[in-house]
Amino acid sequence: MSAYSSKARLRGRCIGFVPTMGALHEGHLSLIRQAGKDNDLVLVSIFVNPAQFGPKEDLRKYPRTFIRDARLCKNSGVDVIFYPGIAQMYPEGYRTYVSVEGLSDCLCGRSRPGHFKGVATVVAKLFNIVQPDTAYFGVKDAQQSVMIRKMVQDLNIPVKIRVMPTVREGSGLALSSRNDYLSLNEKKDALILSRSLSFAEYLIKSGLKDADRVISAMKQLILKKRSAKIDYISIVDASTLRPLKKIAGECLIALAVRIGRTRLIDNVVVKVSLRKDNR
Ligand code: AMP
Repeated sequence: MSAYSSKARLRGRCIGFVPTMGALHEGHLSLIRQAGKDNDLVLVSIFVNPAQFGPKEDLRKYPRTFIRDARLCKNSGVDVIFYPGIAQMYPEGYRTYVSVEGLSDCLCGRSRPGHFKGVATVVAKLFNIVQPDTAYFGVKDAQQSVMIRKMVQDLNIPVKIRVMPTVREGSGLALSSRNDYLSLNEKKDALILSRSLSFAEYLIKSGLKDADRVISAMKQLILKKRSAKIDYISIVDASTLRPLKKIAGECLIALAVRIGRTRLIDNVVVKVSLRKDNR
């Protein structure tokens, strides 16, 4: 992979890179298409990264659909798929990890300790191997993209980061490889994630600026679904991820909810003018 990228770069080719864990869907494909528009070459990595799964998480059952993924990549104009094995990425004696302090322990990091360290580590390794000009991430994993931007800045990694909008089903459900775990009824209940976010956005745009009140209105709505168990709902500054009491500026409303046994995440970014009189 490295030799291929080095040669391509020497020839002046611009490389766009989309790191994934496979089980590709339209969300991934939207990143791939954007990479195709912006670059000469599109590289996709498929690697279910054990370092970002906790001991009780779904590493073993995470969907692995390489043949289907490869076909989707081919049809979407991907030039190369990088598909390393675990022993290549983490050989015996592996010792080095990247941790982005202050951005890894909040939100999803609180219930998934070590997750973002695993993500930062694998992304740093992939950047060094693939040597892309630009890498593409989805705002669906908002905390991840904020953390990667910071890592690239702090470690002087010469990769441009582009963050793309969340692709949703017509119903509003954010596409996710984990949606495959949901039963038909659970899938209906899962709509409560995007609905509660739209409701929060509506409340904020109608003048409610007290974060706690917005969060408790969302909680009430979500808990009407019997299969739903809230992991967290947070309203934070979109770039620092610091919690907000009063909603102002660019804020990220992020949540994780378990629907049955499946943990789903979603978020929305709301921009609020700082000048208005607020409740
Ligand atoms: P994953 O395979 O889940 O690690 O995701 C790979 C990339 O696809 C990440 O940058 C995700 O944020 C992005 N992604 C996942 N779901 C979506 C979606 N529904 N819309 C846009 N991007 C997404």
